[in-house]
Amino acid sequence: MSLTPESMNLIKGKLVVSCQAAPGDPLEDTETIRRIARAAVGGGAAGLRVNSAEDIAAIRRDTDLPIIGIKKKYLNGQLRITPDFESAAELAAAGANIVALDCTNRTWPFGDPWQEIVERIHRELNLLVMADIATLGEALAAAAGGADMIGMTLNGYTEETRGNSAFSWPLLADLVRQTGRPIVAEGHISTPAEARRAIENGAWSVVVGSAITRPGTITARFVDAIGRRHKTTSAIGVDIGGTSIKAGLVDREGRVSFISQTPTRAREGRDAIAAAAEQVIENVLTAARNEGIQPCGLGIASAGAIDVQTGVVFAATDNLPGWAGFDLRGFAEERFHLPVQVNNDAHAAVLAELHFGLGRELSDFVAITIGTGVGGGIVSGGKLLCGQHGFAGTIGHHTIRFDGRPCNCGRLGCLEAYVSTAALIQEYESQNVRRQNEPGTPDATLALRISQLASAGDTAALQAYSVLAGYLAEGVANIFNILDPEAVILSGGLVEGHAGFVTEVEQRATSLLHFGGKRKPRVRLSEAGQYAGVQGAAASVF
Ligand SMILES: [Zn+2]
Repeated sequence: MSLTPESMNLIKGKLVVSCQAAPGDPLEDTETIRRIARAAVGGGAAGLRVNSAEDIAAIRRDTDLPIIGIKKKYLNGQLRITPDFESAAELAAAGANIVALDCTNRTWPFGDPWQEIVERIHRELNLLVMADIATLGEALAAAAGGADMIGMTLNGYTEETRGNSAFSWPLLADLVRQTGRPIVAEGHISTPAEARRAIENGAWSVVVGSAITRPGTITARFVDAIGRRHKTTSAIGVDIGGTSIKAGLVDREGRVSFISQTPTRAREGRDAIAAAAEQVIENVLTAARNEGIQPCGLGIASAGAIDVQTGVVFAATDNLPGWAGFDLRGFAEERFHLPVQVNNDAHAAVLAELHFGLGRELSDFVAITIGTGVGGGIVSGGKLLCGQHGFAGTIGHHTIRFDGRPCNCGRLGCLEAYVSTAALIQEYESQNVRRQNEPGTPDATLALRISQLASAGDTAALQAYSVLAGYLAEGVANIFNILDPEAVILSGGLVEGHAGFVTEVEQRATSLLHFGGKRKPRVRLSEAGQYAGVQGAAASVF
């Protein structure tokens, strides 16, 4: 086909304005969006991108310009753009010329396969399709699947591309060169100069949204630039663990105030955990507001694997029964009407290290927290690695002994099976030290006693620590071999309890390491305290 459809020609080399309001935004109202669109058209926009049939129908009464229609749908907190043919048909009936839909290769719990939607939009609606993608691979698949145009909309918004907070010029170049389709530059274009550059670099057209149509976002950019916001705003951080839930108000320097804490009531299941969390958040919020402080957001750290993008608990252990699948962000947003960020608790501790701890001076480090288990996280280039499912940095479950001790995860020989409070107690007692503790004493208490004995020079306690240091050195050496970070930072009561432990781990890791003497791997003791999870959760809001 050599003829380009008219609506595509009308936006060639031109600006399309995305007229949408975020959920909960004061401008989220059809008549308001209609007026914003009218202003954009008055300013010379060649086309519009609009969410929902209702808004399109309203705007269509004012203009004949091409409209790229989308329908955002949420389920369990997950967002997808035009996830089913029915939505596309509604957009068409309302007057859209082009239907944009999510053609990323993410898997979704609902909706039709995008290939099927593309085919039916062409056949039954006779409209053009713009494929919203995040990567070159997805764009090539969309082109092969019949998409008429490719939009870069979702770059930075999928697990694979998370962290891309600027427009990707290399991706634009690749798409222009390789897809054979008109490329719509969209997402993170915030200045007129960037819009012009996109066209000069081969984009068919440029879609700009927030930088034109969202006063809240624009205001925040100015406030941030002036720097006042930096000094005045605080966020609430919440740390949901297997035994307790902690919350507090955290300022930009990491100072925690208005601390509230409660038992998790994990055995009572999901609703009880959620209710306990709600209560501590409410306590902090009330205390802050009584002091005239309005928190800028709510950060939640939870045990288990968390889908950072959707805020849904992806997986959880038996420590939090029924917690998997819970839409934690949706729950908190609904109750507190604040922006909410959700992270895994180990990752939150790493964020605390990055923003408020030793990590401030580092761009590449690995943090390991040792307690009942071993948690961890990897910071690379100043950013926390989450991985596809939020599992990146699960250092506790890498194997240090083939066919070794059984681990809670079901495998054999994991680091966590050798380095933990339980392992420390086991080593100590295996040296025929008569157990002088009453039965039922919690592991944490026993471990604390051993650390006190070690600090006092007790031979058996020192020996137990030394055995653990040997195992941990294996894991740490593996980390240095694989990632070559600037430092490995250790935290947790077990580590903090005995001053010589970190030094011994560093020495033994060095001796195990390939070219260890030349590399001088640094192992350091974290300065983070018991509220690292709370601080890190809040940092994710900042
Ligand atoms: Zn394991």
